Amino acid sequence: MGKLLFWIAVIAAVWIAIKFAQSSARRAGGRAGDASKDDRGEPMVKCAHCGVHVPRSESVPAGHLHYCSGAHRDAGPQGR
Ligand SMILES: [Zn+2]
Repeated sequence: MGKLLFWIAVIAAVWIAIKFAQSSARRAGGRAGDASKDDRGEPMVKCAHCGVHVPRSESVPAGHLHYCSGAHRDAGPQGR
């Protein structure tokens, strides 16, 4: 009897955990906007030429500045 209750509790706990994971994953996906990139821990850097934000790993670094592409790196930083 005690064993049966134990297994019912284990199955219920696993089922609740799966449901919780699915609903939270769906909620995160539904809200996925520009902020989703920050959730992954990827730091965003601003292109010094056109001001667009790109993930650091996709940016083109040049000294202490970052650019969205090699063309903008060649064009150099824009004043505004
Ligand atoms: Zn740019």
